[in-house]
Amino acid sequence: MSDLQAEMLGVIEHAIANAPRSLQKAIGPSEIGHPCARRIAYKLAGAPEVNTGRVPWKPAIGTAVHAWLDETFTAANARQPDFDTTGGRYLCEVRVDVGEIAGQTITGSCDLRTPEESLDFKIVGDPTLRRVKKEQHPGQQYRIQGHLYGRGWQRMGRPVKTIGVWFLPRNQELRQAYLWTEPYDEQVAIEALARAESIASLVQRFGVAAAGALPMTEAYCSGCPFFRANSTDLTQGCPGVIKAKDPAAEFAGLLAS
Ligand code: SF4
Repeated sequence: MSDLQAEMLGVIEHAIANAPRSLQKAIGPSEIGHPCARRIAYKLAGAPEVNTGRVPWKPAIGTAVHAWLDETFTAANARQPDFDTTGGRYLCEVRVDVGEIAGQTITGSCDLRTPEESLDFKIVGDPTLRRVKKEQHPGQQYRIQGHLYGRGWQRMGRPVKTIGVWFLPRNQELRQAYLWTEPYDEQVAIEALARAESIASLVQRFGVAAAGALPMTEAYCSGCPFFRANSTDLTQGCPGVIKAKDPAAEFAGLLAS
């Protein structure tokens, strides 16, 4: 590698490592609905991320596109027929308070709100785009995130009727985008917060050791920040799993014990 390329890569890697999202320690709405209870426990326990070998370039692309979309929709307000002094049709990147976990307020930045809809943007590769189109569903984690933002708007006194996820292709033409929506349902958000609260109560009792006691769920383990290959000390990282056993039953049993 040339010195110049090494220098430029260093600049980018420093920026990614020091971006606010990379440094964020508190759990956010995007993580609350994660299928793996153990991963949520590591996060709530404040465990250090150990799977740091790879520079998160794809998320950096997503962050850059989000910033461009924010500018683009904010500027588009001036062209809307219902533009007025209250801010226009599109509200972009508004921080909303979705609820509490272990007494801590959970906030997140909602990508876009129209008068009736709350939307989250995902910049995705081909496999994800193919899957969501085939299943006509964004997956439970993204669905929960959408309803949490809906709850944030509701708590702000500005309820929405519909929540959604807009999948924008990272490697295809724009018109391949896929928009998924469904009516806002506060119960989805409340149930997700209750699950996280149950995990938080175990973390409060057992610290990071609670993570090791919780079931694993295969969910892109190689990309999990707490993945450590062949780990036998679960307080230091999780070895991941190829195939889930029955995480829901295991989790219920743990809570009952
Ligand atoms: S590596 Fe996989 S099983 Fe382990 S905490 Fe992360 S997502 Fe869960």
